Amino acid sequence: MEKEFMKYDRQRDEMVRKQIQARGITDAKVLAAMRKVPRHLFVNEALIDQAYGDYPLPIGEQQTISQPYIVAEMTQALQLNEEDRVLEIGTGSGYQAAILAEIVFRVYTVERIHTLFTKTRKLFDMLRYHNIVTRYSDGTFGWKDESPFDAIIVTAGSPDIPAPLISQLAVGGRMIIPVGNQYSQELVKIYKDQKGIHITKLGGCRFVKLVGEHGWKES
Ligand code: SAH
Repeated sequence: MEKEFMKYDRQRDEMVRKQIQARGITDAKVLAAMRKVPRHLFVNEALIDQAYGDYPLPIGEQQTISQPYIVAEMTQALQLNEEDRVLEIGTGSGYQAAILAEIVFRVYTVERIHTLFTKTRKLFDMLRYHNIVTRYSDGTFGWKDESPFDAIIVTAGSPDIPAPLISQLAVGGRMIIPVGNQYSQELVKIYKDQKGIHITKLGGCRFVKLVGEHGWKES
């Protein structure tokens, strides 16, 4: 058991150096979180030895846990502060939420598939992530009662930026969302100030679909 632990520690350290730092991620808070969160506990047991590989992995229900580098890139782009309250749409395995929870005050995460929602809620409890609040619903509506948020991260691909999410972003807030068609998207960063929103594009990516009222309609 002890030996197993050390094996994953070593793999995680190597992941951070070769996949994350080597590709230019420099935010110390992001690097520390990626070094700490036990990614192998967020994947299905059959895939545990691939947990630190440079690729996404299936998590059931035709959904995926993102590639480690994408998680790091999106998290860095959010420019997080310790006191921030962050909304995540697409809880999935819970890995991205755990990374956020290591950095900020509180994470609000929404999932629309019930089996993933319950499984991941249990994992958060087991790992004692008391600053992650979960919700089972269509996240394209955001989480109005808890808004505004200092940062919003959408971890599924959307045809457009859902309007409720823009209105639930605080002034000074940052949002990251993959926008595009079903096969490929662009990571879009939105910054909101008194005058309105400012959009920058961070490059190509590929996510599963954001399904909901302000995303892709269920087929
Ligand atoms: N952040 C996750 C990524 C999971 S993949 C992780 O670290 O593992 C994207 C997730 O978004 C899936 O679990 C999918 O069910 C969920 N999703 C898609 N549309 C959604 C919606 N409208 N509201 C909430 N979750 C949604």
